Amino acid sequence: MGNKCCSHRQDTEPPRVYPAIKNGDPLLKPSLGSIDSRYTPDPHRGRTATGADIIRPRATPSRPNVGMGQPRPRIVVALYNYNAREHTDVSFVKGDRMEIIDDTESDWWRVVHLGTRQEGLIPWNFVAPEKSVESEDWFFDGVSRKEADKLLLAEENPRGTFLVRPSEHNPRGYSLSVKDWEESRGYHVKHYKIKPLDHGGFYIATNQTFMSLPALVMAYTKNALGLCHVLAKPCPKPKPQMWDISPELRDKYEIPRSEIQLIRKLGQGNFGEVHYGKWRNEIEVAVKTLKPGTMSTEAFLEEAAIMKKFRHMNLVALYAVCTKEEPVYIVTEYMSKGSLLDFLRHGEGRDLKLDDLVYIAAQIASGMKYLELQLLIHRDLAARNVLIGEKNVAKICDFGLARIIEDNEYCPKQGTRFPIKWTAPEAIQYCKFSIKSDVWSFGILLMELFTYGQVPYPGMHTQEVIKNVERGYRMPKPVSHHLPEDIYIIMLGCWDANPQKRPTFEFLFHYFDAYNVTSELPYREVFD
Ligand code: ADP
Ligand code: MG
Repeated sequence: MGNKCCSHRQDTEPPRVYPAIKNGDPLLKPSLGSIDSRYTPDPHRGRTATGADIIRPRATPSRPNVGMGQPRPRIVVALYNYNAREHTDVSFVKGDRMEIIDDTESDWWRVVHLGTRQEGLIPWNFVAPEKSVESEDWFFDGVSRKEADKLLLAEENPRGTFLVRPSEHNPRGYSLSVKDWEESRGYHVKHYKIKPLDHGGFYIATNQTFMSLPALVMAYTKNALGLCHVLAKPCPKPKPQMWDISPELRDKYEIPRSEIQLIRKLGQGNFGEVHYGKWRNEIEVAVKTLKPGTMSTEAFLEEAAIMKKFRHMNLVALYAVCTKEEPVYIVTEYMSKGSLLDFLRHGEGRDLKLDDLVYIAAQIASGMKYLELQLLIHRDLAARNVLIGEKNVAKICDFGLARIIEDNEYCPKQGTRFPIKWTAPEAIQYCKFSIKSDVWSFGILLMELFTYGQVPYPGMHTQEVIKNVERGYRMPKPVSHHLPEDIYIIMLGCWDANPQKRPTFEFLFHYFDAYNVTSELPYREVFD
């Protein structure tokens, strides 16, 4: 969405003033434990190219090779196809076997391909140890119940499509999620507990025990044995996120401009245009350009520095920059459906149902929960700064105003203009930005989301908003749209006058992740 410079700013973005950065800005001291290791085996600590401590996977499965008694595996099997992007990496197709030579590097492992005998680097999250439970098509690591619902309910999946995921509650247990159909409920997902036996093995129903998870799955693919449906087909696995566009760019992210082809304009940013493009005519990217003379290159690149150092499934990934000539480029992951605001107002987002809206809210809260852990405040959280990709994936972008906080709060220079309708009163009045002012903005974003992109405080000017909010006025529950009462109460919590009383993003994430849209319907799960 564009930000046309005009005098009525309340509904668009204000011009941004970037505070000067000190040398060696303490920006990024990412803390541990928050990388989302979705679809990946056992995380262990590693170090990024930027020197930040992060969580990294190791080539050992997170759980024992269930019921198989294998020694520690050094052979991995490809879960997806991968086309090499440089001379240093190795191409493979799903099912190919590779021997690990070095798994100490954070994102790229050195292997020998056992078919082609080629040696080189591979992205770690495209493979799993051979014969491990992680290498099974039906095994989904790190997937929550809500995500399982989302993946299975995709239209193309027939009844009986299934997946197995580690239990969120029992560290030795698993859950089996199966897509089912009933006349009264239509398509829905049933979740069954897979319980471990004391001496190895698993069961769903006590009268049917199995030596291993694969044995259990195999049995239920032949006969429903009391499940809602026989297990028909493993759920298709989405490709994992790649954080670097290629292995060569894992340590440096300056690339020659000639490697970027700008294809079409996507939107207008504050300081330049955003284009859809390709890297080396192949990989889809979004390219943010800086109009010469609008702001300092240094300030523009601050945004890139922040994006590069923070990694999460729900934050837009930075791939590269071109800074050697003007205009400067920031090259990021491409999000095919554009900004959440446009998506809700004019795009496919107009047809979203309540559970889709809740899913988007959960993802944004998940990204913000990560920032909360990293002590980064966003300061410009709004629907215009969330991007949407395929299957309603949502990622937060626009880190231009984001800053790491040293003492809980960050006070920018005087004179900075804020997006008033999204900004907490203490931030407007006293410049007190904190993760709690982001929580306020999240509440406003929720209202945008559940009203399909309505302007917050419709019909009110910014000065009125400031005055009214200060007196205790809050946006009322909309009459034009269906907003469940409990979600409206969450919004009011985000708008508590006392920042400390507002919920954490950790809470908000769990709230939306566990939100059960169908809770009023009879809920009949056989074993869970
Ligand atoms: P600004 O820094 O001025 O806020 P944005 O980053 O918000 O600029 O980008 C402006 C618009 O460009 C967005 O609203 C969106 O429509 C589009 N856009 C930006 N980044 C991407 C991306 N990665 N993928 C797809 N569209 C994008
Ligand atoms: Mg923006």
